[in-house]
Amino acid sequence: MSAGRRSPRGTGGIVDRARAALFGVAVGDALGATTEFMTPAEIRDRYGVLREIVGGGWLKLSPGQVTDDTEMTLCVARGIVCSSRWDPGPIADRFAHWLSGNPADVGATCRRGIEEYIEKGRIEAPPDEKGAGNGAAMRVAPVALYTLGDEELLSRLAVEQAHITHHHPLSDAACVSVGKMIQWSLLGAPLRDLRAEAEELAARHPEFRFEGYDGKSSGYVVDTLRTVFDAFFSTDNFEDCVVKTVNRGGDADTAGSIAGAIAGARYGFAAIPPRWVNALDAGLREELASLAERLVRKSPLFDRA
Ligand code: MN
Ligand code: MN
Repeated sequence: MSAGRRSPRGTGGIVDRARAALFGVAVGDALGATTEFMTPAEIRDRYGVLREIVGGGWLKLSPGQVTDDTEMTLCVARGIVCSSRWDPGPIADRFAHWLSGNPADVGATCRRGIEEYIEKGRIEAPPDEKGAGNGAAMRVAPVALYTLGDEELLSRLAVEQAHITHHHPLSDAACVSVGKMIQWSLLGAPLRDLRAEAEELAARHPEFRFEGYDGKSSGYVVDTLRTVFDAFFSTDNFEDCVVKTVNRGGDADTAGSIAGAIAGARYGFAAIPPRWVNALDAGLREELASLAERLVRKSPLFDRA
């Protein structure tokens, strides 16, 4: 595949789509948090089809409030932009600071990894057969922006950021694939290339095959990615992709975040419903926009230019 050598269509478009990728994480989280841990039948009874950011959910959120998916993505992005070179340390420090604030929503694997970092300074979790949760893939978008133009670098750093908490081959593979799909979308790749990446992932790890998807959306990274792929490849716009994802329930905010990142990168900022963007806190909007631009401007693609 030649995607790694693809040249950009125009830098303005890339910055716009990079911003949309990070906003996608946040709006997918804010929308999906409402239906997290619900079944599709419960969602139908209560909301019909959930298309509005209304808050609530098991965390009793206010409308537009985001959770760990966005918060950990911010930690990764802030940790990257504050350093002059790649270093997972500042990211782990931000995870530690975030955890010390007692966030409402924290995955068990994330919590364990961060506690190990706080107690022992361990920046790389040991291989863990229970580490195939989606907590590393949900926060990979900033790494995709920062490594734009160098897929090998993406593959290495996506896994390094993952291993702060999650160390499992399926999580690693998911992080790299989601990162590639974001990068290729930023560069304007055709849909068939994105599908080829999803198929390549399934060729290496058949668990990820999403033909005949069974509708299960859980915290297992395989279920999460199958949910996201099914929604992304069966819709043709940002809103429908994210709506379809979160109405599966289960780990809806996390699946929504990942779907939002990929779909944001593909469809661009103008494709994100303004009512969703405006539901987010103004300070968060400002920071997401600034981080997205700073991340891509640090990338090999822009550095070389
Ligand atoms: Mn969450
Ligand atoms: Mn979640």
